[in-house]
Amino acid sequence: MGQGKPLAGQKALVTGANSGIGKAVAIALGEAGADVVVNYRDGEDKAVEVADQIVRSGSRALAVRADISVESEVSDMFRRAIEHFGTVDILVNNAGLQSDAPVDQMSLAQWNKVISVNLTGQFLCAREAVREFKRRGVVPSVSRAAGKIVCMSSVHDRIPWAGHANYAASKGGVMLLMKTLAQELAPFKIRVNSISPGAIRTPINTSAWSTQEALASLLTLIPYGRIGEPEDIGKATVWLASDDSDYVNGISLYVDGGMTLYPEFARGG
Ligand code: NAD
Repeated sequence: MGQGKPLAGQKALVTGANSGIGKAVAIALGEAGADVVVNYRDGEDKAVEVADQIVRSGSRALAVRADISVESEVSDMFRRAIEHFGTVDILVNNAGLQSDAPVDQMSLAQWNKVISVNLTGQFLCAREAVREFKRRGVVPSVSRAAGKIVCMSSVHDRIPWAGHANYAASKGGVMLLMKTLAQELAPFKIRVNSISPGAIRTPINTSAWSTQEALASLLTLIPYGRIGEPEDIGKATVWLASDDSDYVNGISLYVDGGMTLYPEFARGG
């Protein structure tokens, strides 16, 4: 099992892995040979389906419920993951949500909810992963690194987004959390990078692609002329988690069909 696969022998934990990007990432890591903890908060049936699909691809999988914004649930999830698989080599900090409003109508609860999942949740999971990476250290037969963290950020870690102040602030925060951890942890052979997706076809943004008009409007923002699919992010995550990217640390990898290239200037600006 797993011979020749880039992540053979590695253990991964993917947050929010029962939907959209997290689901595709968990399946891609499994196909690449990693055993995968499929985290979910709601929707156990969907998490079990993802785990079953990973098992069919030849890797092991475990669905674990935890709200990543709750400290005790995050530590319990890592304890279960390590009990079950022995360690964790790869964390994909994927879970995230939106709660949109014009700033003058945004409640403190809306602000806190998005920051606590999208930013504090990434901190809590990264902290647990780093404790395990430092405890174990490098195992050369498994990977050149003691651990890898991939943070799911967004093009909105650099494109301001009216009506989404909480979301843009959370992703801007993820960018400097990621870079600071990358700098702090490099001496321990721990790599930390972000993927900053553009528009990817998932339930988080159904209104942006589910009608012809909405999709046509969205495509004016994407020079490459298509919406992204969750599998586009799955493939990028496998690369960032594998030794193929061993010298890559602290980057934001924009997987966005060129959305960050100021597309309006392609038509004369
Ligand atoms: P999605 O809604 O399909 O998936 C989000 C996942 O996060 C779900 O599984 C959800 O249950 C989980 N989640 C939410 N709160 C949680 C919590 N407290 N604890 C555990 N899990 C929780 O959306 P998606 O598009 O797949 O989003 C995944 C990530 O990608 C998010 O961080 C999002 O900000 C980011 N992203 C998405 C796009 C896009 O276009 N779809 C673009 C840029 C960034």
